[in-house]
Amino acid sequence: MSFKNLGLSDPILKAVAKKAYTKPSVIQEKAIPLVLEGKDVLASAQTGTGKTAGFVLPILDLLAKKPIQKRRPVRSLILTPTRELAAQIYDNILDYSKFLDIRTTVIFGGVKQHSQVAALNKGVDILVATPGRLLDLCNQKILNLSQVEIFVLDEADRMLDMGFIRDIKKIMSFVPEKRQTLLFSATFSKEIKKLSHSYLSNPATVEAAPENTTADKIKQKIIRTDKSKKTALIIQIIKEENWKQGLVFTRTKHGANKLCKKMMNQGISASAIHGNKTQNARVRALSDFKAGKVKILVATDIAARGLDIPLLPHVCNFELPNIAEDYVHRIGRTGRAGASGEAISLVSSDEMEYVESIEKLLGIKLKMEQIEGYEPSAETPENELPKPKKQHKPRRPKQNRFGKPNQKKNAQRNDRTSDSSSESRSKSKPTSKSDSKPRRANKVLDDSNLKKSFKKKNTNSSSSVSKFKKNNGDKEPMAW
Ligand code: AMP
Repeated sequence: MSFKNLGLSDPILKAVAKKAYTKPSVIQEKAIPLVLEGKDVLASAQTGTGKTAGFVLPILDLLAKKPIQKRRPVRSLILTPTRELAAQIYDNILDYSKFLDIRTTVIFGGVKQHSQVAALNKGVDILVATPGRLLDLCNQKILNLSQVEIFVLDEADRMLDMGFIRDIKKIMSFVPEKRQTLLFSATFSKEIKKLSHSYLSNPATVEAAPENTTADKIKQKIIRTDKSKKTALIIQIIKEENWKQGLVFTRTKHGANKLCKKMMNQGISASAIHGNKTQNARVRALSDFKAGKVKILVATDIAARGLDIPLLPHVCNFELPNIAEDYVHRIGRTGRAGASGEAISLVSSDEMEYVESIEKLLGIKLKMEQIEGYEPSAETPENELPKPKKQHKPRRPKQNRFGKPNQKKNAQRNDRTSDSSSESRSKSKPTSKSDSKPRRANKVLDDSNLKKSFKKKNTNSSSSVSKFKKNNGDKEPMAW
């Protein structure tokens, strides 16, 4: 099968040839004819399968065939979860539309809106956007989506993980009901199927790979160790195996910074990329890594989504993700475009439950090994046991001396949280009234009950009261 057989027009074939793509990938072969036919498409495609061209090429073809209106309203909207992915899709569109009169722009948060607004005002045919900034501009009435003909929801599973469902619903209210909708997702979960029922009309389903499987060419292995040994272990692996380039995933932004610093102290060129970095810092870290100036990129899930780094040989899960699907995405960063790659995961005993759910999702048993000198201790150390869930009292934002929110302090606080907090909406369901009650309120309630029952049993017994106080140390009810 060639690109020509897919029915694409000459300017697009020329652009594809310029990219040195010799034949379409599986997802391109399956999706392009369906999109050209004007069908809604529900496509499951792994990262690195060429899915971007799978939807961009036919969209370009369809848009280019229609006469261009004077004011150039947005005719195709591509919604993506992260800024990096948005920027990458935008770059791809520029390449693929080189020989067409099609205007594209990209909008995302984290940067001033001025230049984005200026680009929109000039008129664009294709708009690539992340949900937050898109809604913001729609609400400001700067952006009009009423003439969107083709709507793409890319990495839809990730959008849901990041809690964008409400934003998606809102955005759907701005686009016309009569449109072509394409939904791309790495995995086909129940939620994705539900989403497709709501927004796609009689979609053709395309699967480029079996559901929830990882690329065959990726060698996966679990290295069992202790949490406290992980930093030294990964540094040793990188040095001993002489990694040319690798992507190392941590669960938190703070963890990414810490690990990156330790690697640099050990003479490994590394940089960190996560949601707390400015957009410029993120772009710089990524371009340095792509240019080979930096050997190791330490990343959190959100920042890493959408990275297209061809032939990345190593991916390491310094910490396993607590969502099994994220494992699939992470390791999909290697073994791209048919190349082989290696994905290792450093797993401490508290993460073994994640291994189980990953294996269940993949339907395979992952190879497990230990490295001499870094074996896990026989007993699970106290600090590796999963901590019992705490019910936190909601923290008031720190205020500066003028009574205004102290942005610096609040940002520092944010830095210690998981990366999803700063760039996405909370995934958790809204808490019920009683759930959201501050911890103190529950404590007082418990304590007063305790006090009541205690009093019942020990009326007029002051000695018992003091005995209770003594035995309960700092658990003593404050009201007493
Ligand atoms: P994507 O899955 O869209 O992020 O694409 C992954 C990588 O594959 C990108 O670097 C694309 O430039 C590349 N690519 C896309 N389609 C093809 C193709 N038909 N042949 C070779 N490489 C491709």
